[in-house]
Amino acid sequence: MKNIAIIGAGAAGCFCAVEIKRLYPSYEVTVYEAASRPMIKLGLTGGGRCNITNSFEGVEALADVYPRGVNLMKRLLHSFGPSDCLNWFGEYGVRFVTQEDGCVFPESQDAMQIVHVLERAMREFGVKLVCNRKIANISELSGYDAMVVTTGGGTAHLLAGTGIELVPDVPSLFTLKIDNDGLRSLMGTVVDNVTLGIAGTRFRSHGTLLLTDWGVSGPATLRLSSYAARWLAAEQYQGTLLVNWMDSSESSVREQLAANGDSGRMIANSHPEELSDRLWRHLLQRAGIREDCRWAELGSKGLSRLVNTLISDSYPIVGRAKFKEEFVTCGGVSLNEVRPDSLESRRIPGLYFAGEVLDIDAVTGGFNLQAAWSTAWAVAHAI
Ligand SMILES: Cc1cc2nc3c(=O)[nH]c(=O)nc-3n(C[C@H](O)[C@H](O)[C@H](O)COP(=O)(O)OP(=O)(O)OC[C@H]3O[C@@H](n4cnc5c(N)ncnc54)[C@H](O)[C@@H]3O)c2cc1C
Repeated sequence: MKNIAIIGAGAAGCFCAVEIKRLYPSYEVTVYEAASRPMIKLGLTGGGRCNITNSFEGVEALADVYPRGVNLMKRLLHSFGPSDCLNWFGEYGVRFVTQEDGCVFPESQDAMQIVHVLERAMREFGVKLVCNRKIANISELSGYDAMVVTTGGGTAHLLAGTGIELVPDVPSLFTLKIDNDGLRSLMGTVVDNVTLGIAGTRFRSHGTLLLTDWGVSGPATLRLSSYAARWLAAEQYQGTLLVNWMDSSESSVREQLAANGDSGRMIANSHPEELSDRLWRHLLQRAGIREDCRWAELGSKGLSRLVNTLISDSYPIVGRAKFKEEFVTCGGVSLNEVRPDSLESRRIPGLYFAGEVLDIDAVTGGFNLQAAWSTAWAVAHAI
């Protein structure tokens, strides 16, 4: 019989508690939670629908979805991946739907179904849940055979004094404030395939861009914010956003525009089909091309200016904004501090970590919760 303490009753902590009891029903498992009830955040995930994992089918390289922690995740996903997650919750009667973009949600479209499954399993297995108990430092708890820290992002300070290396926390998954009236006037415009970048860096992201009244949002922006999270924090969220509106090379955009030849048609009336009329007029203005200019009058310099605007338009980034209150923290317990199979501390035997408290984070799409399930499963089995 072992006596286990888990600090933090979030996704990782509750899942870990249940998995330990499934394996060893006789173990005593106590979960300490600072809030008045468990899994408050899990109940809000995916806009209340819980994007529980991802099919990973559209993922070309794992590093594209796990900017931090990719090697560890590669290993852990082999032991407990997305299909294991669906089978696990499937055993408790949850059915799932997978969207075209790979995001997986419970068929009920209700995050509380996942919360209730874990709550019920904890109750039935006799997990002891102690709410309203904030652990200021792990030294407060003693007498346990193993301790699991699952306190989420931005909480690693409860390890102060242990000597465990902590990677400083910075936010990830946010939208960008852009100082440009023309862009802001296009609020609500969606462009399906763009490439975003940050000037002077190698950070690039692809996908859908949404123009908002404060700047840019949508999947391409959130990905860029995740890839460049540390760089942007160091630069105090100032920089230059590069936009390739056509997600294409210079030669192919040039070829596409040159097909208009010497036509007498007005340029303003013949935009590439992926760009809206309003956005096209905005881009013509940025390229210094009159709205009544005809293709035949454009000339090679005008064409070059237009191509350049389409593939490498640039705007000043002047800050960050939250994405619908959703963000994750990058940083936390350094992965050098844990054994990769068990997630046990190399310094303090019997101390384990799972979930966002580790320096692992992902882009949106269910990958963050999958990291919580995979790490918690690894810890439960190691214990
Ligand atoms: C609004 C929102 C929506 C999201 N939607 C999705 C989504 O759809 N899909 C997805 O993959 N990811 C999503 N995420 C990210 C995802 O929720 C997190 O990655 C995940 O919850 C991390 O799980 P965790 O158990 O590590 O931490 P948490 O879920 O944050 O749980 C940590 C728990 O520890 C408790 N705690 C903290 N400090 C202490 C302490 N000192 N003592 C005791 N208890 C403590 C906290 O109160 C909390 O209950 C979303 C995030 C947010 C904010």
